[in-house]
Formats: sequence, structure tokens, C-alpha cells
Amino acid sequence: MYDVIVVGSGATGAWTALCLARAGRRVLVVEAGRDVSADELGRLLRYDKPPDPVPAQPRQSLLPGHSSVIAPFLVDDELNPYATSGADDYRWFRSRQLGGRTLLWGGVTPRLSDEHFADWPFTGADLEPHYERVERAMGVDKDQPLTAAERALAEAFEQQWPGARVLPRPGVAGWPQRLDEHGVAWPAGASPVLFLHDALDLGAELRTDCIVESLALEGERVIGVNVVDRLTCERSLIRSDSVVLCASSIESTRILLNSRNADHPEGVGNSSDHLGRHLRDHISFTVSGTTDRFTGPDSRMQLGGPYGIYLSLPDRGYQVEGWAQRGGARPGQPARFGLATSAAMSDDSANRFTIHPDLVDAWGIPAVDISFGIGADDRAVIQRAEAEIKQACASAGFEITAVDRHYEQISSYVHEGGTARMGASPEDSVVDPWSRVWDAPNVLVVDGACWPTNPYPNPTLTMLAIASRVCDALTDSWGE
Ligand SMILES: Cc1cc2nc3c(=O)[nH]c(=O)nc-3n(C[C@H](O)[C@H](O)[C@H](O)COP(=O)(O)OP(=O)(O)OC[C@H]3O[C@@H](n4cnc5c(N)ncnc54)[C@H](O)[C@@H]3O)c2cc1C
Repeated sequence: MYDVIVVGSGATGAWTALCLARAGRRVLVVEAGRDVSADELGRLLRYDKPPDPVPAQPRQSLLPGHSSVIAPFLVDDELNPYATSGADDYRWFRSRQLGGRTLLWGGVTPRLSDEHFADWPFTGADLEPHYERVERAMGVDKDQPLTAAERALAEAFEQQWPGARVLPRPGVAGWPQRLDEHGVAWPAGASPVLFLHDALDLGAELRTDCIVESLALEGERVIGVNVVDRLTCERSLIRSDSVVLCASSIESTRILLNSRNADHPEGVGNSSDHLGRHLRDHISFTVSGTTDRFTGPDSRMQLGGPYGIYLSLPDRGYQVEGWAQRGGARPGQPARFGLATSAAMSDDSANRFTIHPDLVDAWGIPAVDISFGIGADDRAVIQRAEAEIKQACASAGFEITAVDRHYEQISSYVHEGGTARMGASPEDSVVDPWSRVWDAPNVLVVDGACWPTNPYPNPTLTMLAIASRVCDALTDSWGE
């Protein structure tokens, strides 16, 4: 019998396990995917092709930057199907292995600003100490020097948007790799090397290849999780006092929706009919090109990684982030640059998913049917952003040679959030301000599923700050 079962070992699961293990409780991390070997990690870091056949990925291969090198770290679409039935064909990019998507993520870690919490049941100030804790734990670097080309771009941006300030792009320090205690190299932002190994050292336990199918119910009460062995398909029950869902925004809600009995006929947490609704992602585009005002990469600067420039424009409704003169050109050649712009989506409760009546995954677990569309107002924001970025680049003497309008296809930013929204009342939300499911308070949802809105900054740092706040409250409640 465990005190807490944490579902998932990605960003939020590994960090949650560490916070709870530090409080001295018996913690089990249950991870659906495989453990990863040093060889696999080495190939990923060297960008070497894997020897095995690439998984079937008609959907995952649409992820920008997809290649046979990263393919093993994204799911096999045939084993993990989902349906779409809305105006836009929702692209759900997901990983199933130890560390989840943190083996692939870019490590860019901006905070949300105060205005982004307008519709949340807590404020930016409430989250401040937790942001600090997470940034310390991950080693976030906010002071990387800019290249000369980035400084020129920053100047042009600040002229275009008077009052706006371009900052060094905050990101996980030590890119591209970090060694664990056995000398194995991991991507620098990978949750096992950042958090999970420390949690295990403190006594937390880990089971990989263990898929949570649903919450185990006894009447109204949740008594643990029902799991399926990924390799043998054997089913069993693991008991615990509490369950913390960190399986990622859509997977956590899928588990809640698949947890049904006479007391929870529509799934645990669905008494308000909000479960699965309010799915939002970021809509984005990228531009890249050259500038002959500067030459080649600046050899003193870190190539790749999360560093560069970052600009948040709350009154325009979007952010711009990117790099210049860090790579992609030979010395003496015009410098290259790349910028990514993303905007939030407004609320539309029709953007939702339900459990498909027939479709199941390779383990017989009911799959989701996602209905999703981008509203005309949201498209207008990102189209206006595109015109503004083009103007700012032209005024800086940066020539755009390629534009990728990801917003035409939705979604390519992998920043999905919502579907088990947090709120102050059980009538219009799924979890309370401390992430406890109103209908089952020993179940907590701390990943992006609990977000009441999905503001445009890259979300992972904020997910971890929320997890930190929730874990503090949970451990305080144990002391009572
Ligand atoms: C290429 C790429 C670049 C990105 N760059 C950035 C960036 O720069 N900045 C940023 O903020 N975000 C970025 N992201 C997004 C970031 O990766 C996610 O926000 C973050 O990983 C979410 O954490 P999570 O814990 O919710 O999910 P994940 O990290 O995906 O972890 C979920 C875990 O749960 C496991 N799981 C799922 N279902 C079950 C189940 N039923 N039972 C047991 N386990 C289960 C999965 O196997 C996985 O290990 C990027 C993502 C990608 C793919």
C-alpha cells in the first residue's frame, strides 16, 4: 500500500515524485513506457539513426523536426490510436517512455506574467516562490549573453513595440546534455536526470511498462489504480491513499473519463460535465532566414539549445522567441536566424474530447475522440502577429526566406492544456484550487489538464510551479 501513486514520469510526474519523496512518504511512480538505455540516449544526443525499424507514425511524423532519430521517443500511432471529429484535425504529439516528452523538449522556460492568471483561482504572486524553487532545481539560465545579431533584432523589436523589452530567452542550463550519477548522458532537460533519480534515491519506487487504465473505485472512493502490463497485457490493481495524475493533459483526463462505476457514471470528476472540455493549444508560426548585416555563427555562443531572445507581448496576445547568428552558416557567410511566434486560444468548451465508443488501443483501453477547431478571432491574432514580425525583421535588415504557418494545421507546439480545469466551484470546474478532483479529493491533477486558460508562454515551467504548490499543500495536509 503506497501513500501516493504518481502516474507518469515526464516533467510533472518526476518533479511531483521528488517533492513528495522529500516529505518522507511512500511514493510509487507508474510509467506506461519503457525504461531508456544509455545506448538509446547516446544515439539521441549524437543524432544517430537507431538500428531498429521506425515505429508506425502517420500522425507523429507531422511534428515539425520529426526524423528517424527522434521517432523512437514518440508513440507508435497504430498501437496508440485516437480519432478526430472536429473542424481541424488535432495533432496530438506524445511520448511513452521514461521521462516522457522531456527527452525531446526544447527547455525554454518563461514564466507567465500576472495578467495571465486573470481567470485562475490563484495569483501570480501565489506562484512566485514555486517558480523560484523550480528554477533553482532545474538550473534555469536567464542571463545567456546575446549575439550581436540578436542585439540588433532586439533593438528593432523594441522600436516596433515601444515599452516592450526583449530578454535573453530563459532555458534549462547546461544544454545539450547532463550526466547522471552513473555517468550516463541525458538530454539536459530530461526529467529523470533533473528530478526522478533524486526521488528514487529518497526511497520513491518506479514501475515502467505499467499503463494506468483507470482509477480503482470502491463505491465513491478511489483506492488506487488499475494497471495493464505493457509487455504481457496482464491486469492488476495497485492500492494507494492518493493518486496524482501527471500523464500529460489529454492522457490524465482520459484516465478520469475511463474510470466509471455506478457512483461515477460519466467518469471520475465529471459531475459538472466539464471533464474533457476546454482543450486549448498554442497556435504558432516560425520564420527563418539570413541577414548580411552579420556573418556566420558567433563562435563564442552556445549553438542550439534554448538560448537566444524572448519577447512577451501581452497587449498583442503573443510571444516571440528565437535565435540569430548561433548556427546554420559558415564563417564569413550571412548569419542565419529563426523565430517562433505563438498565441493563445480563447475558450471554447466545444473544443473537447470524449471516449470513443469503439476505438481502443493495443491494450484494450478505450481511446479518445478529439473535436477541435481554431476560432476566427484566434486566427486573426496570429495572422496579425505574422505581419508584425515580418515588418520588424525587415526594418532590422533580416530577410525572411521561409515561413511555416503551423496555425493552418493545428497544433505543432505540443503545448496542450485544459480538459480537467481548475476552479473555485464544483459547478464549473473539475478540480479545486489545490488540484484535488471535486468528486474524489484523494485524486489530484497537476499537469496541464488542470489549467483554466492556456496563456501563450511555453508552459512546462508553470506546470512544475503548480505541482510544487500542490505538493506543499498535500504534505501540509498530512501533518494535520
Ligand atoms: C519537441 C518538443 C519541444 C518542446 N519544447 C518545449 C519548450 O521549449 N518549453 C516548454 O515549456 N515545453 C516544451 N514542450 C512541451 C513539454 O514537453 C511538455 O509541456 C511537458 O513534457 C509536459 O509534461 P507532462 O508531465 O504533462 O507530460 P510528459 O512529459 O509527456 O510526460 C507524461 C508521461 O506520462 C506517461 N503516461 C501517459 N499515459 C500514461 C498512463 N496511462 N499510465 C502511466 N503513464 C502514462 C507517459 O509515458 C509520459 O512518460 C516541447 C515538447 C516537444 C515534443
